[in-house]
Amino acid sequence: SRDTREVRDYIRTIVDFPKEGILFRDVTTLFADARGFRMAVDQLLNPYAGEQIDKVVGLEARGFILGGAVAHQLSVGFVPIRKKGKLPGAVLSQAYELEYGEAVVEIHDDALNPGDRVLIVDDLLATGGTAAAGIALCERLGAEVIGCAFVIDLPELGGRKLLEEMGHEVFALTAFE
Ligand code: 5GP
Repeated sequence: SRDTREVRDYIRTIVDFPKEGILFRDVTTLFADARGFRMAVDQLLNPYAGEQIDKVVGLEARGFILGGAVAHQLSVGFVPIRKKGKLPGAVLSQAYELEYGEAVVEIHDDALNPGDRVLIVDDLLATGGTAAAGIALCERLGAEVIGCAFVIDLPELGGRKLLEEMGHEVFALTAFE
């Protein structure tokens, strides 16, 4: 019989990871399934049909898996934004607030050209801190962020609101409370 599973049906929830009280939305089960992974990549691109995209920017680490596939599908290049100290060349750095302390993400300073139209990709949008830092790095290189695409939105954590207030379009395939 026909397989009617949607993208969200392939996402596994792990209780108390990485610490007690957290419901971790695990996309490894989505990525491991040929049909699920294909659906996720295809659906992520639906809103951008007909739009010019010059580069896909993926956020470490699951944004690399998705972003690589999305870039390949579009036949455009892929640019990683990584945690501090991982990229080998000259970088721009951007700090952002975490629940406790701060984190730093980096992009190669020659990875984007002024005027490039970029699509930012990650697996999950929570507070939006990671994505906002990624947007800032792209914009510091003169690129235009034409959209931010996620598999999962956790709307209660406010990330969509934050990015939309910054003037950015947010697209997610599914949401969890
Ligand atoms: P934010 O910066 O929006 O608060 O957090 C989003 C980042 O944390 C993303 O890079 C995402 O991969 C990661 N993240 C936070 N919670 C989860 C989760 O429950 N599942 C997954 N797969 N990633 C998460």
